[in-house]
Amino acid sequence: MDHNTVKLQGLDSRYLPPEGILGLIDSFSTEFHCETIGHSVEERPIQTIKIGHGSLKILMWSQMHGNETTTTRALLDLINMFQLAKGEQKEWLEKLTILVIPMLNPDGAIYYTRRNANDVDLNRDAQALSQPETKALFTIYQDFQPDFCFNLHGQRTRYAVGESEVPTTLAFLAPSADTSKTITDARKQAMQLIVGIHSSLQSATKIGMARYDDAFNAQCVGDAFTAMGTPTILFEAGHYPGDYHRHMTRKYLYDTLYSALKLIATAGWTNIEYSMYFDIPENKTSYADIVLKNNNTGGTKTQLALNYDEQLIDGQIVFVPKPISESYAPFYIGHKIFDLQNEKDVDTLRSDTHLSAFI
Ligand SMILES: [Zn+2]
Repeated sequence: MDHNTVKLQGLDSRYLPPEGILGLIDSFSTEFHCETIGHSVEERPIQTIKIGHGSLKILMWSQMHGNETTTTRALLDLINMFQLAKGEQKEWLEKLTILVIPMLNPDGAIYYTRRNANDVDLNRDAQALSQPETKALFTIYQDFQPDFCFNLHGQRTRYAVGESEVPTTLAFLAPSADTSKTITDARKQAMQLIVGIHSSLQSATKIGMARYDDAFNAQCVGDAFTAMGTPTILFEAGHYPGDYHRHMTRKYLYDTLYSALKLIATAGWTNIEYSMYFDIPENKTSYADIVLKNNNTGGTKTQLALNYDEQLIDGQIVFVPKPISESYAPFYIGHKIFDLQNEKDVDTLRSDTHLSAFI
């Protein structure tokens, strides 16, 4: 089922606090089993939605980083798809049991921060398990014993696909299980699935897709679960040209999840050659949000690179441009480029509340 058919209303903003999903979880609970599995530092409930009753179990969690909401929006669309499903997708639910945690870090979600209310990055807490949110995730992991884990995140606008100038809209990772990046059975299966997802999306669309850095970090949840023997995929919702509110990325992420579940339900991934994973280009830090060419700092003309700082102001996300380290600035490509020697460009900058400060 295509995204337009299942897209939920009211999820257009990059800001998605807990109250934005409570009503939806309530409506899902008429068809699916919904449960509270724990509470955040500030006592907000962490909820799960269980879909299907098959023997293959998939655990998915989103908004482990509170300000990464695109995957949650796509995930809710996916649950809606199962609510509307009649044919093929209903059959998947005979094969699959999907346990979804749409918002693992509700405190971070309300404050629009990556970290939780104790200022801890939950994706660096996989060994210490010092936070109630990480404890809840590991408890449900032990109880549910998933065959696959989907670790859903959002990445910044900085990345391009390999050496190209194509912005990375989606990135994937089969996390390492140890420092030598051994291709364990679990990691191999995650790689096979990623190759399957990548090729099914590539045949349907021209978006930029890349492979995320696979340096091992035992503190990261995906690495920990891979080391514990569960094939785990990290999905990163990235940037589609001009789409700062990530409406298009939400659609492509939905397509990605749909294709991943189809591959698992139909066993369509089992004969895929895992080594093709390494043919997917790596994520490269190549972009800045804005580049101002011919900036005359210190008497030498150079380019000034700016990145948007996402600020939560009165319940809205405001994109405020901030300079990045100038010594690196010459290397970056701009999603938007202005030439300070071009009068038209200077006029545009002058009329912009934030950018007028840089001319
Ligand atoms: Zn993240």
